[in-house]
Amino acid sequence: MPELPEVETTRRGIRPALAGRAITGLVLRERRLRWPIPRGLPGKLVGQRVIDGARRAKYLLIELERGTLIAHLGMSGSLRVLPADAPLLAHDHYDLSLDSGRCLRYNDPRRFGCLLWVTGDPARHRLLAGLGPEPLEREFDAVYLAARARGRRVAVKQFLMDQRVVVGVGNIYASESLFRAGVDPRRAAGRVSRERFERLVVAVREVLGEAIRRGGTTLRDYVNADGAPGYFAQDLYVYERGGEPCRLCGEVVRQIVQGQRSTYFCPGCQG
Ligand SMILES: [Zn+2]
Repeated sequence: MPELPEVETTRRGIRPALAGRAITGLVLRERRLRWPIPRGLPGKLVGQRVIDGARRAKYLLIELERGTLIAHLGMSGSLRVLPADAPLLAHDHYDLSLDSGRCLRYNDPRRFGCLLWVTGDPARHRLLAGLGPEPLEREFDAVYLAARARGRRVAVKQFLMDQRVVVGVGNIYASESLFRAGVDPRRAAGRVSRERFERLVVAVREVLGEAIRRGGTTLRDYVNADGAPGYFAQDLYVYERGGEPCRLCGEVVRQIVQGQRSTYFCPGCQG
């Protein structure tokens, strides 16, 4: 599943091809994504110029002159910039055609992604309103986390994955960040010390930053905007390493289930 680093990698990959170009069409081959793409959408977009390509949480925001396209990659989606006449593959659902002769093509076998159009401030859209801060921005710090955690009995790993607390820390990155910070994922959020939150903020930034620099994680079938796999999987310390020795202390990495998701941690390194 594309997580924040994959979405950010996609944004960086597609932005140069989009910015400043005019839209010449929107070809819809399959409208039935998580929410159907509105039939009238192509007519609204044609002729508009792309101002910028931004991101909020795992949503790509393609800013046009009179509104914003909100695109989500769902469980299995990918967006690539291709020549408009590039041969179609199975599950190629829409093309956003550009005056450069290229297109932004969306492929998604499971169709959990979306393409929505909003006029006005996209931050106020129901999908984006209420989201917590971005993990790589300054607002996300130990003071903020400690304030949000006060009195909370939920496990710190689930707290960290709550999009209202901070966006984009998915399952892989939560396990890896807690490992690097030396924090037991089972500890109640309200009982995590300020010092541990300081380490956790640093770890979240490092883990996500490294994954973005490496172009997203090579997990299963993810490919980035150029079609190349990311290279983060070989740097995972605990994720999907249950039963194997910890790379730092040699203790056996444990796998448990929290909130129906697998958590991996090292009992030797995480207290
Ligand atoms: Zn260890």
